Amino acid sequence: MPVPIPKATRLRVLVTGGAGFVGSHLVDRLMERGNIVIVADNFFTGRKENIMHHLQNPFFELIRHDVVEPMLVEVDQIYHLACPASPVHYKHNPVKTIKTSVMGTLNMLGLAKRVGARMLLTSTSEVYGDPLEHPQKESYWGNVNPIGVRSCYDEGKRVAETLCFDYHRQEGVDIRIARIFNTYGPRMALEDGRVVSNFVSQALRGEPLTVYGDGKQTRSFQYVDDLVAGLMALMDNENEIGPVNIGNPGEFTMIELAEVVKEVVNKDAKIEFKENTADDPGRRKPDITLAKTALGWEPKITLREGLPKMVEDFRERLQVGDKKEL
Ligand code: NAD
Ligand code: UDP
Ligand code: UDP
Repeated sequence: MPVPIPKATRLRVLVTGGAGFVGSHLVDRLMERGNIVIVADNFFTGRKENIMHHLQNPFFELIRHDVVEPMLVEVDQIYHLACPASPVHYKHNPVKTIKTSVMGTLNMLGLAKRVGARMLLTSTSEVYGDPLEHPQKESYWGNVNPIGVRSCYDEGKRVAETLCFDYHRQEGVDIRIARIFNTYGPRMALEDGRVVSNFVSQALRGEPLTVYGDGKQTRSFQYVDDLVAGLMALMDNENEIGPVNIGNPGEFTMIELAEVVKEVVNKDAKIEFKENTADDPGRRKPDITLAKTALGWEPKITLREGLPKMVEDFRERLQVGDKKEL
């Protein structure tokens, strides 16, 4: 029998966006660690199903809350994830997206200031825009279109980073910033619109894999467990506040990704080329030297190892059998 952790010594952790893809995996790890976890989510892209398994636990609390509004809770740490992450979702209501990033982060920093909590912001590799430096180091300032269709997300996160540093310098708020590169894994929304979830759903349904543009653009894909380990390593680190790149440096063109998905899911799947979206970054690959040296973190799971874990989950949720039964 494990020795129960006395309530007074349990860390109280707020996870905004905790019902989403990344947030729900993070919540699982924090609960395992014996923390008191409060999730605040407006369920725009998140789902109760992702965290339902904790609802009966007295150390877990779920609050329907929009981070654009102020929030009063007493916590020791804040993981601030709330923000749609898929281009399809964040372009759906761009004004709401930028309000979420800017006002949501302002509110969480105000909260962190009042209660003396440490706050970690999940920023993004999108702050590098269509990068002119490759691979991207944290010192690179980026190449972002301020008025394009992706700007609500990119510029929103850039302002969120600025707010963190201003609250840190001016108010002494204890901040951490992670710049996350493309992440995939179980519990991604099926209709998320991101490339890995699209390809896996399409391959499982026997539909063609939709490659946008010429398919030569690159991304670097990390498995969600690696990301969560990186976020917790940064939150727990006493010296490094970031920004720190958290990503897997394995770089793939979209055609290569389609080939890997075919190999893992359905060898007979066809590839279909479609028109690309505006301002699509041409390439992206993290330089993770800082994460390795400062946090002792690096990703462990390759795309070929991680994909089957996601496929299993998608197969169940799409209720399709093994490829042979399709
Ligand atoms: P997700 O869409 O699955 O999760 C986002 C969560 O935030 C959802 O549960 C959603 O309902 C909630 N949310 C959105 N707006 C909100 C609001 N106004 N108030 C309260 N809750 C709100 O996306 P994800 O992939 O889990 O991303 C989580 C975080 O990581 C985001 O901040 C995202 O920008 C960042 N990130 C993710 C990736 C990736 O590849 N997954 C890459 C870079 C950065
Ligand atoms: N805030 C919050 N919860 C708190 C403390 C503050 O949501 O526990 C919000 C507050 O409503 C404000 C923002 O955080 O919109 C910034 O707070 P701060 O105290 O820095 O600024 P001020 O309230 O003076 O504008
Ligand atoms: N993409 C694609 N097919 C799809 C969805 C996306 O080829 O069905 C491409 C998209 O044009 C981009 C890359 O995949 O070049 C990554 O897109 P995603 O939306 O996953 O993430 P982000 O653009 O934010 O990196």
